Amino acid sequence: MKVLIVGGVAGGATVAARLRRLDEHAEIILFERGAYVSYANCGLPYYIGTTITDRNKLFVQTVQGFKARFNIDIRVNSKVEQINPVEKTVQVTNLKTGEVYTEGYDRLVLSPGAEPVRPKIKGIEDKRVFTLRSIPDTDQIKNFIREHKPKRALVVGGGFIGLEMADNLSDAGLDVCVVEMANQVMAPLDFSMASIVHQHLKSKNVGLLLEEAVDGFSDSETGLTVELRSGKKIETDMVIWSIGVRPETKLAKDAELQIGDLGGISVNEYLQTSDSEIYALGDAVEVFNPVTGKPALIPLAGPANKQGRIVADNIVFGNNQKYEGTIGTSIARIFDLTVASAGASGKLLKKEQIPYISSFTHSASHAGYYPNALPLSVKILFAPETGRLLGAQVVGFDGVDKRIDLLAQVIRNGGTVNDLTQIEHAYAPPYSSAKDPVNMAGFVAQNVLLGKVKLIQWRDIQDLDLEKNVLLDVRTVEEYSLSHIEGAVNIPVDSLRQKLSELPKDKNIVIYCAVGLRGYLASRILTQNGFPNVQNLSGGYKTWASATDEQNNYKFFLNIHIDSKDEMKDTNISTFCVDACGMQCPGPIIQTKKYYDELKTGQRMEVKATDQAYATDVKAWSNIVGAKLIGVENKAGIVTAHIEKTEPVKSSCLTTGGDNKTIIVFSDDLDKALASFVITNGAVAMGKKVTMFFTFWGLNVIKKKQHVKVKKDILGKMFGMMLPSSSQNLKLSKLNMCGMGSKMMRYIMKQKQIESLEGLMKQAIESGQVEMIACTMSMDVMGVKREELLDTVTLGGVASYLEQSEQSNLNLFI
Ligand code: FAD
Repeated sequence: MKVLIVGGVAGGATVAARLRRLDEHAEIILFERGAYVSYANCGLPYYIGTTITDRNKLFVQTVQGFKARFNIDIRVNSKVEQINPVEKTVQVTNLKTGEVYTEGYDRLVLSPGAEPVRPKIKGIEDKRVFTLRSIPDTDQIKNFIREHKPKRALVVGGGFIGLEMADNLSDAGLDVCVVEMANQVMAPLDFSMASIVHQHLKSKNVGLLLEEAVDGFSDSETGLTVELRSGKKIETDMVIWSIGVRPETKLAKDAELQIGDLGGISVNEYLQTSDSEIYALGDAVEVFNPVTGKPALIPLAGPANKQGRIVADNIVFGNNQKYEGTIGTSIARIFDLTVASAGASGKLLKKEQIPYISSFTHSASHAGYYPNALPLSVKILFAPETGRLLGAQVVGFDGVDKRIDLLAQVIRNGGTVNDLTQIEHAYAPPYSSAKDPVNMAGFVAQNVLLGKVKLIQWRDIQDLDLEKNVLLDVRTVEEYSLSHIEGAVNIPVDSLRQKLSELPKDKNIVIYCAVGLRGYLASRILTQNGFPNVQNLSGGYKTWASATDEQNNYKFFLNIHIDSKDEMKDTNISTFCVDACGMQCPGPIIQTKKYYDELKTGQRMEVKATDQAYATDVKAWSNIVGAKLIGVENKAGIVTAHIEKTEPVKSSCLTTGGDNKTIIVFSDDLDKALASFVITNGAVAMGKKVTMFFTFWGLNVIKKKQHVKVKKDILGKMFGMMLPSSSQNLKLSKLNMCGMGSKMMRYIMKQKQIESLEGLMKQAIESGQVEMIACTMSMDVMGVKREELLDTVTLGGVASYLEQSEQSNLNLFI
């Protein structure tokens, strides 16, 4: 038998090796367009980032090694140009010599993979814009970094290759920014789980711009200018273009093989194409997805390798093996976080109109009392009627891989959430808990199906009508006072039984706690005490906060990140150690304060916490109490802060030399708003950073031009009707003359070629040196919602403003 194989990496090389193991006498010819075969493309990002230091390690087999071991005729630099299915031949070009020849076959195998999507936009051919698929791509990126020593990189696309590259480029010492067109990274995850990744990227000081697209690239004096659809521009030194892949189907199309609706080669369960002598596999084919029952494109190495074995068996033994399909089990490491998914996401189920319930659980990677237990978040999706497990997503710092593998097996086998409760796992404190996180996910889902608890999702909280619902926070008073969901009343779970009379039975009670467990207890107490309508927020405050927090990282552009400092590594300074690992917010802050109070001036303490919010909380806390924050490090899921006791009252300036400017914009008069931005841009021009704090009427200046539909109470609606809807409708403080004055002012400014207010604001935003903070208290009072304000605005309280003003030598009230 003579078998020709097109493509010599994951799928193609596997077919070739298995064929030879099964049939010593077959004639096997493998064509590979590139110069290498059987290499680890999954390892390429790690070689760029120097985790893999030896380039040779990327090669699973060399051409010579492959030939020697398997006696396969490997033809590299050989492109298969055409298939003639009638004559059973292929036409090949030797890319080195230019020779064109035909080769006949008994069976043909197509494993040509998928190519990076590269639209024709301005400047995409620039030598500093790279895609990553092969060894030569990797060499090019590596050589560019070696020769040009870039300081900044921009990654376009937040899929797993893009984010692995962000991680590895950061590892190689570059400042990295990620631009993603969707509202989240890592498409197989749902938004809420992706938001954990967003917060982690922020903590690693990776710039993150979501719902933003790249329109083109142009040369600039200092590097490469990336032009974004919103009009923003970013300067960078290199770009990784990674917006996805598309199946390589040209050969198949030209040979009139059947192509599926998703654009991949159609194959049957034996991986045969519409021509029974031609098999196809890997990234190029559409596979059956057992969850949706429909074809899917799942470009992953595991399926390609497994399909390779099946194709070889079917060629030798005559279709004796079926490929059962793929549920897309995948995993990626993004900085310290591991992100994994299997089966269908909520987005996909919704699109396919498959009914589902989702539930979140936040557990620890192993027993909480054993050192270094790290947060592990699990989302599962299951059928409301049968409890069949449809999808799972796991995000955490340790043990994510084994959890997703367990969940994936249950999904693949058509199992239910009851099966999750029965999973038998190996347990000792360093590895798990007596009830593993996958068991916990099953218990929660089982309770839902048995009607023991009704869940509400984080998205539904924003639509709650507080006239008809009570939002009940059952965390401790300390947790509540540090942060809570707007409109919530606080009755800690431990005092709930004594305060039942304070709650109305004719309203729906929506309960939340930190992660969902105390909320469940509280919901059981209320339900069994005659409260008919009780719901528990799935995933608790943790899921809600992560999903509703700012997802972009604009602060990257302001360069206000406190990093780990060399001073943290100074072992000569005796440091008092506090272990707050395993504690949820505000536990670590309370511990920090407790031990800080005991320090003498000049003494230092090191606090370790696994609560990821601690990285930001400790910065705010240090600034408020005047503690000197030496540095914060977030490594492998553990946030370590070094704090030095200072004289009371004095506050420290950690991030800058105290030469910044702060402006409180209180007024929404057009002339005053103009003045504030003129001063701001002037200060920026002089190399200063400016913080503008918009409070009360000032909020109207930073409203979006287009009307945003948001839910408001009556007072909020009234304010909304009476106040200017955006900067375009601001009035003059004097001589307004029913709006004539402001129109005249804008006209004269245009005549004299003076920038409009909107132009000045755009300049300020694009400078990357201006932080615009909207006062949350004023927003609350005036019913202004986040969605109504410009995307670049961050939300903050007085503490945020005061923190910035401590670092300024000019403070204006306009
Ligand atoms: P490929 O392995 O891409 O091989 C196709 C080969 O066919 C190519 O070498 C191409 O040059 C050749 N070819 C195409 N057309 C012709 C022609 N006409 N003539 C001759 N030769 C031709 N997957 C995971 O599961 N986990 C990961 O961590 C992971 N990381 C990845 C990281 C990177 C940077 C990349 C690029 C991919 C990663 N993948 C990962 C995906 C995984 O590598 C692919 O799913 C897998 O390689 C697909 O195998 P394949 O045989 O279909 O295609």
